[in-house]
Amino acid sequence: MHDLVRRLYPLCRSITGDGVRRTLEILAESVPLDVHEVPTGTEVLDWTVPKEWNIRDAYVKDAAGRRVIDFAESNLHVVGYSTPVSAVMSLAELRPHLHTLPDQPALTPYRTAYYAETWGFCLAADTLAALPEGDYEVRIDSTLAEGHLTYAEHVVPGRVADEVLISCHVCHPSLANDNLAGVAVAVALARRLARAEPWHTYRFLFAPGTIGAITWLARNRERVDRIRHGLVLACAGDAGPLTYKRSRRGDAAVDRAAAHVLRASGRPHTVNDFSPYGYDERQFCSPGFDLPVGSLTRTPYAGYPEYHTSADDPGLVRPEALADTLEACWEIVQVLEGDRRYLNLSPYGEPQLGRRGLYGSLGGRSDTEQAQMAMLWVLNLSDGEHGLLDVAERAGLPFPVVAEAARALQGAGLLKERAR
Ligand code: ZN
Repeated sequence: MHDLVRRLYPLCRSITGDGVRRTLEILAESVPLDVHEVPTGTEVLDWTVPKEWNIRDAYVKDAAGRRVIDFAESNLHVVGYSTPVSAVMSLAELRPHLHTLPDQPALTPYRTAYYAETWGFCLAADTLAALPEGDYEVRIDSTLAEGHLTYAEHVVPGRVADEVLISCHVCHPSLANDNLAGVAVAVALARRLARAEPWHTYRFLFAPGTIGAITWLARNRERVDRIRHGLVLACAGDAGPLTYKRSRRGDAAVDRAAAHVLRASGRPHTVNDFSPYGYDERQFCSPGFDLPVGSLTRTPYAGYPEYHTSADDPGLVRPEALADTLEACWEIVQVLEGDRRYLNLSPYGEPQLGRRGLYGSLGGRSDTEQAQMAMLWVLNLSDGEHGLLDVAERAGLPFPVVAEAARALQGAGLLKERAR
């Protein structure tokens, strides 16, 4: 995953353009993708697909011809969606187009101007402070023209058409945690799911933030009711603890599954209520759709000092944090896959477990007590109304232990699965 982050990092992505296409080409080496190109001007919900932006080079040169701001050094130096410029101007004239972070003077900010035709450069406040007065050659070799918005889907087919949506944004240029880390985790999750032959169908969406999710929703309006669960993945690789943000519904199965997994694992973590801000959960959880889609991050949106700066580089992303996020996703998926309802076929008094070998089979195991409690809880709550996640929550037991108990009881003929 960290290799993928480092490989994607140099590309100049935006909400449209060749940076997104190249990113998707690289992802397609790992998972097959359906790439969609939506023309400029297409109306999508309340929005319109914008012109396509591409950039080849940009710089500010001093009187000696030295590049004092250079796109080739970092694509963050140009405001995303900058219109082309070729001019000589004084520092005073240039200054309104320069963006810095006075509180973090060594860092370059990330700025965009998607929906206002303008241009600008971003640089360290320290660099700006060192620039002498005088004339500068300013050039941005970009195009903003009719074209397309590009997004991609990858589907892991399941046994049923009910879908789990995993979405992440692919529109940020050289920023690593936000969101190449999320992209890398999504790709790894897709590969792992493909080997597992899942129950649900898993749809992975790699799209530019906001306008990409809106475009996808506009084009899939008739089929979104297939989405039973969903997760928006972002900021998946920093050293901070995991954060789950609930869907707008607040008590969707994915909300309960994520909270259960994080609590039962003993990981330090935070579970937050929904708010209409952040990543594309804003779109999936808009009231017209109200999809059961939560968001999993480590440090949440805008919550770390490197956020949207040149310090959000591959060094901020830890391989072990990526692995931990992937593991949490996997555990959540296992709950969504395994949460089903059973009927206790011997509900009058406790069935005699010893006679069926269900005590003996556990002898000597250090988790015997937990496994036994899980059996008693599963038997007690398997009235056809409660699912295994209900059992795990009420019993305060890890979901895999409960699921294993149900398998053993079913094997002994004491449980019957209800239709899902
Ligand atoms: Zn961002």
